[in-house]
Amino acid sequence: MPEKICQSLWRDSAPAGPVLTPLEGRLEVDVVIVGAGFTGLSAALHLAKLGVSVAVVEAQEVGFGGSGRNVGLANAGVWLEPDQLDKAIGPDAGKVMYEALAAAPECVYSLIKEYDIQCEPVRHGTLHAGVGKTGLAQLQRRYEQMARRGAPVQLLDAAEAQARIGSNKFNSALFDPRAGTIQPLAYARGLAHAAIKEGAKLFDYSPVSKIEPAEDGWVLHTEKGQVHAEKVILATNAYSEFGVKEQARKFVPIFYSQLATKPLTEAQLASILPNKEGVWDTCTVMSSFRLDKQGRLVFGGMGGEGGVLSKWASQRVTEMFPILSKVEWDYCWTGKIAYSEDHLPHCQQLQRGLFSVAGYSGRGIGPGTVVGAELAQWLSGQRESLSIPTTLLRDISFRELKRLFYEVGAQTYHLGQQSHALE
Ligand SMILES: Cc1cc2nc3c(=O)[nH]c(=O)nc-3n(C[C@H](O)[C@H](O)[C@H](O)COP(=O)(O)OP(=O)(O)OC[C@H]3O[C@@H](n4cnc5c(N)ncnc54)[C@H](O)[C@@H]3O)c2cc1C
Repeated sequence: MPEKICQSLWRDSAPAGPVLTPLEGRLEVDVVIVGAGFTGLSAALHLAKLGVSVAVVEAQEVGFGGSGRNVGLANAGVWLEPDQLDKAIGPDAGKVMYEALAAAPECVYSLIKEYDIQCEPVRHGTLHAGVGKTGLAQLQRRYEQMARRGAPVQLLDAAEAQARIGSNKFNSALFDPRAGTIQPLAYARGLAHAAIKEGAKLFDYSPVSKIEPAEDGWVLHTEKGQVHAEKVILATNAYSEFGVKEQARKFVPIFYSQLATKPLTEAQLASILPNKEGVWDTCTVMSSFRLDKQGRLVFGGMGGEGGVLSKWASQRVTEMFPILSKVEWDYCWTGKIAYSEDHLPHCQQLQRGLFSVAGYSGRGIGPGTVVGAELAQWLSGQRESLSIPTTLLRDISFRELKRLFYEVGAQTYHLGQQSHALE
């Protein structure tokens, strides 16, 4: 296998992020955010725009977590079917969340336009591709529920789906024209440039090792610096012990790996995804595929990287697309997805002024961007609540609060002892 195989395509093809330095000395801001992914960066950008002083402290580089490793499908809505969402959080809250996240691709593509983010944006829709009878039934259910809520989705039959995808392995597809694809690391880096432009301060290679309560807020410690802030947002999702143990609602980190081929030939590109939609299938062990700007096929599946996945991926890809008689992989990389118990992201107030957002369950580009923007408005008093489930201090028992307090302390201590290897 070529040497490149264990590298991320996104790291190779993204424009440079802003040049940052680690945090040194003492800094005072209104809000400090831990983690420079979509959630943290969108929150920082929108807080700075509202005139709030804000800093982002990142353990590694901008986009090191899920934000720089994902498939790049900028989808509308959440993972759950809309009726399941209503059942999970109630019809009123379900409606609010559904509508906010239905507009998530618009939020993403508007920011890309406003800040001229060079992230290969293609808004030609996404295809949820049906496999087998169960897959078809799932798509019919989703179509009916989404159409009932006014979504401009189309249920494609086998012939239409096969023509759009360039494969006869699918019996249907749910087309959502609101969605599209992006180069995710480039989007994260672009958000970082935009946040700085609006006045946010960003620091990289500064893992937060301790969070201590102070008289009027919190003090976050890194190796060489401290940030004092009234409010803290832990936006570390699957990439830290933060948000794991202290969340009342837990999530499990699941590995998802991707491989990218050499750029396809013109004949291959005319047959495979000629309209460049992003695709994921209805299989329980899901796979995804899309093209990038250079015409590489980016294929992903559940599990960690390595020989097994690349063998399985080669077989699956050649079965799907016989026109690719031999698949040559140039890149392979892995990321951790935070699956929550109910497949929904949650915001939790852990202590007064200390908030955590986690559990996007593999749908975080749009939701992370929207939740970041909403957090900015909420924490600066411009909106009353978030559109995602939120657990406030008053909802947590005193005993639970005490446990959370000690968990945060313990987790940040352990985190300080860890070293994060950068891929
Ligand atoms: C392989 C994969 C494929 C996916 N595909 C899609 C997709 O196609 N579409 C979609 O919408 N979503 C997708 N997702 C989900 C999406 O990428 C995530 O939900 C989203 O990136 C979460 O963003 P975030 O900002 O909350 O967290 P992250 O991007 O994970 O950022 C967390 C950051 O916190 C930092 N951090 C952790 N601990 C500390 C500390 N102590 N101090 C300072 N910093 C710290 C980490 O280094 C990291 O950079 C995918 C995820 C993965 C992993």
